[in-house]
Amino acid sequence: MKSSSPVVEFISIVIPVFNEEKTLPELIRRTLLACEELERPFEVILVDDGSSDSSAKIIEEMTEASNSHIVGVILNRNYGQHSAIMAGFEQTRGDVVVTLDADLQNPPEEIPRLIAEIDKGFDSVGTVRLNRQDSALRRYPSKLVNMLVKKSTGVEMNDYGCMLRAYRKHVVEAMLSCHERSTFIPILANNFSRYTTEIDVRHDERADGDSKYSAMKLIGLMFDLITSMTTAPLRLLSIVGGFIAFLGIAFGLFLMVLRLVFGAEWAGDGLFTLFSILFIFVGAQFIGLGLLGEYIGRIYSDVRARPRFFVEGVYVGEAVSPLRKSNKSHANQEETSS
Ligand code: UDP
Ligand code: MG
Repeated sequence: MKSSSPVVEFISIVIPVFNEEKTLPELIRRTLLACEELERPFEVILVDDGSSDSSAKIIEEMTEASNSHIVGVILNRNYGQHSAIMAGFEQTRGDVVVTLDADLQNPPEEIPRLIAEIDKGFDSVGTVRLNRQDSALRRYPSKLVNMLVKKSTGVEMNDYGCMLRAYRKHVVEAMLSCHERSTFIPILANNFSRYTTEIDVRHDERADGDSKYSAMKLIGLMFDLITSMTTAPLRLLSIVGGFIAFLGIAFGLFLMVLRLVFGAEWAGDGLFTLFSILFIFVGAQFIGLGLLGEYIGRIYSDVRARPRFFVEGVYVGEAVSPLRKSNKSHANQEETSS
């Protein structure tokens, strides 16, 4: 484990808010209490994701109180949880950034435990919901997705759905330098983290109201997750097509052998031959689609313009120059380094 990592000075908490007026006051009270326990400077960034209730107004009022530690970011419309978090990331000044949900399903009291892991030198800290308080309809698809992600990324994390997570500043900066419109933050963060860990956290029932994810929004999220990770499904088209075409050819050959060896009556009428020809053409079409997919996949990865690599630090002889400290000037740099 890395021991030379700088001590975390400034903590930023980012919370996306979409129609959460009922839980906001309690959320803020508990989050501030948890942060004060850390005995370090901190800010709480509340991002209003185009709420139609009074959430935005409550956030604005909260920021007005002196020494409130609260920063409000108000979006003009609903962009979705992950985009809202990105908007919050843009405003962070912290050396470490913690995200959590506004509905109090993620207890803010767990924040110090996340920071403790970061202090040990981890770049991102994930969480596993111990007693997940969601319906089976949400739990099982989520289990499947977590398993697929684990296979595809090779990162040992078991719960990508829990947004109570902590990232070091350099990971957040790298995420901000990605240009894709739709993204899935925990997976994106893994691309830029060297040391990751995971801790168990409590999961509570929603404090008020219902999930802000409709069935359609959930499906959209699932696609965001898959496409943020891989373009393999496009390649699958070519593979499936190749397989179908192969079956068609094999079936055609089989029919031909039957006809030649045993006579026409064994091979049936022309219907089966037609099937084999059809198989070959369907397969060829799939291969064509898959090829198109390969091009689209490449265009997609160029359009999102993710950094090709991410340098964590440059070491010259004994002098260490961690890029993460020197390359970006942040408004709070004097504050935190003094
Ligand atoms: N959220 C958001 N924009 C949206 C949907 C949700 O900012 O379009 C926020 C929401 O206010 C909450 C978090 O994202 O803070 C998680 O949403 P929710 O609790 O509804 O999701 P679930 O717990 O059902 O996965
Ligand atoms: Mg929730």
